[in-house]
Formats: sequence, structure tokens, C-alpha cells
Amino acid sequence: MGNMLSDARQRMYRAEDYVNVSDDLVHYLDYPAETLAVSIPLRCDDGSLKQLKAWRCRYNSALGPTKGGIRFHPSVCLEEVQTLAFLMTMKCSLMGLPFGGAKGGVHVDTKELSALEKERLTRGYVRAFARQLGPDRDIPAPDVATGEREMAWMVSEYAELSGAISPAAFTGKPVVLGGAKGRTQATGRGALIALQQVRGSLDLPDDGLDIALQGFGNAGSWFARAAVKAGHRIVAASDSRGMVRHDDGLDIEAIANLKANGGSVTDLRQDGAETAAADQLITTDCDVLALAALGDVVTDENAGTLACKAILEIANMPVAPSADEPLRQAGIEVVPDILANGGGVVVSHAEWVQNRQGLGWPEDRVHDYLEDRMKAAASEVTTLMRERDIDMRTAAYGAAMIRLCNAISSKGTSE
Ligand code: GLU
Repeated sequence: MGNMLSDARQRMYRAEDYVNVSDDLVHYLDYPAETLAVSIPLRCDDGSLKQLKAWRCRYNSALGPTKGGIRFHPSVCLEEVQTLAFLMTMKCSLMGLPFGGAKGGVHVDTKELSALEKERLTRGYVRAFARQLGPDRDIPAPDVATGEREMAWMVSEYAELSGAISPAAFTGKPVVLGGAKGRTQATGRGALIALQQVRGSLDLPDDGLDIALQGFGNAGSWFARAAVKAGHRIVAASDSRGMVRHDDGLDIEAIANLKANGGSVTDLRQDGAETAAADQLITTDCDVLALAALGDVVTDENAGTLACKAILEIANMPVAPSADEPLRQAGIEVVPDILANGGGVVVSHAEWVQNRQGLGWPEDRVHDYLEDRMKAAASEVTTLMRERDIDMRTAAYGAAMIRLCNAISSKGTSE
């Protein structure tokens, strides 16, 4: 954990060797521009008072106002927030958006909070970081354990504090408060678009793919729906409680229903479906291992046990940097997070644009925008892969750095 940010940066240095960017500019991206650490007081329902540690990091703003989600999770710490902000910087650049990268988080287990406590915490977060936020400065969005409900509380708190209604200060809001139609589905749908676009560069069969999916939350469930609709099979799925497998494909709508009612994927009653422990998912036989839960799932220790042909990183950093080399040796290509889950922030951008125009786009238009951006980024990545004979992650970082370094050098050194 201690080396998380420096490990993540190694991916950038590796890419530097293959693209023509100057060393000075790359070192500009070594450290975050600013990180604010606070303690948020939370009055609990029983009258007791908790102090929760929270952070917001703006990593780099060369391309525009900084952008990134806020996560509520017990894993959250200063280094995780900075690392994920670094990742957002690369992601926004690769996706061709006029945004820099940021991330925020609170060290908390939301399973222990009531809805009212969660609302007080969410509003407390905005009060603590209000100086850092704003539609032209730093724009939060949902991440792990935050969604449109939290964004609604945030935009309302921000309006009370600033005395102005600024819907563009947050993305991932409910549609009724200016959210983009299709934002909830965007990360999952975008991941499938990315997979289809880069498929020619992966060693995969030509027909429908057998996919094993870790994590059946928002991104995972929408990815599964899109994948099945496109003719693929979800042959295995897992959540924190276990996994379920069926070689002919799982009933995704039945699983989604179970999850919506607080159940687990292991509650599925489908003829021929078999359950197993959650950690069996990554070693199950499949064409594509889609990782849509948390970080650090595939490491140097278990990389040799995988039985997939390719990995799709729907979560942020599910493949630890220590696994990069073993996976390359094993010939398992990784569709990296900054491309695979870029659909979320692409539709966040669509939302920000709509809010600034005072307009609401029809869902088709949002979807077309998502598709165009995903295709453009995927084709930049596969072109670079071919031209420089490099793996997909290195190509994705390379493409991101070319744009970023261009922006940094165009501005000069005073920023
Ligand atoms: N949390 C998402 C991500 O990691 C979305 C960020 C955003 O829309 O700003 O990409």
C-alpha cells in the first residue's frame, strides 16, 4: 500500500520510453498539484459524534478543471486518493476531454451508516471542501458507494453555501436535477464499446465471448446487460458473498433483481448454475475476465493462476502494477481502466456541457457522444499499439501523455 502512487507512476514512465515526450514534462506529473486533508465531524443518530478522515486531491489541471469521483470506503487513504487522481488525469486526457484529474474520498464503512447519517456526511464533505470545488475548478462525481442520491445532496449543499445554483459543479446527478440521461449506465456500456473496439488486437474467438464478471454493482450490472444484448455470455459472476457459474450463460435480469433486493449472486436459482467461493471467480475458465469490483484483485502472486485470454478493467486499478509483467509473460492482454471505464467520465462531461448550456440532451444523443468518444480513444490506443509494438496499457498511457504533455508545454512553466 505504501508504494501505491509510485507503482502507478511506473506505468507512465514505461510509456514514456515509447512516445516522444520530454522527460521534464513527464516529471511535471510526478506529484499532485494539491491535496486537502480534513476531518469531518459526523453527528450520529444516537447523538454520538464521529470524526471521519477525508481527502480531495487535484492532481493536474493542464487540460481543464479537475474531474473525478468521491468514494466512501474503509480502504480510502491519502495515497489511494492521490493515486486515483493520477489515474483520472490519464483517463480524462486519453478520452480527449477538457478536464484534469482529481479524486476524493472518506475513510468510512457506509454499511454502518443510516441514510440520514450518510446525508449528513455527504453534506459535511461539501462544507469541508467547498473552497476547492466549483464548475470551473474541481467537479466531483460518483464513485464507490456514492451515486446520484449523494450527488443530489452535494449539489444542494453547494447551492446553500455558495448562494448560487450551480448544477455543473457536480456530475452524476439525478436527471431531474440536471443529470445526463444514461449516466448511470455509461460506465458499463462504455466498457463493452471499448471491448468491441479493441477486440481485433486481442487473441479472442470470433463469435460470442464467454465472460466472467467480478462485481455486480452499477458498472458491472450495466456491462453485463450490454454484453448479453450484444450476443456474449456471462458465464460466471461474483459479489463479495460468492460466485455463480453456468456455462450456457447466467440469467442477468434475475441476478439484477436479486441484487436490487439486497440479495447475492449466489441466491440465483437457475437450472445447472453452480456456486463457489468469491475468490474462485478470477481463476474460472473464460475468454474475458471483467473486473468491476475494487482495486488490487490481480497481483504478482495470483497472476499465474488466471484462466482467461484477456482482462477488462471496469474498476479502477483491479490489476496491481506488480502483475503487469507476469501478465505480459503469460500473453494475457489487459484493456486498461483508463480506457475501459472511461465511459463514466465521458458522460459526466456530456452532463457538464448540458448544465452549462441549460439544456437536456435526449438519451440517444448522450449515447452517440459516449460511443464516439470511446471509439476515438480505442482507435488511438490500438494504432499506437501496432505502430510501437507495445501492450495496450502502455499504449493507453502513451496516448494520454502525448495530449497532456502537449498541454503542459503549450502553457509554459508558470502554471
Ligand atoms: N468515478 C468515475 C471514474 O473513476 C467517474 C468520474 C467522473 O465522472 O468524474 O472514472
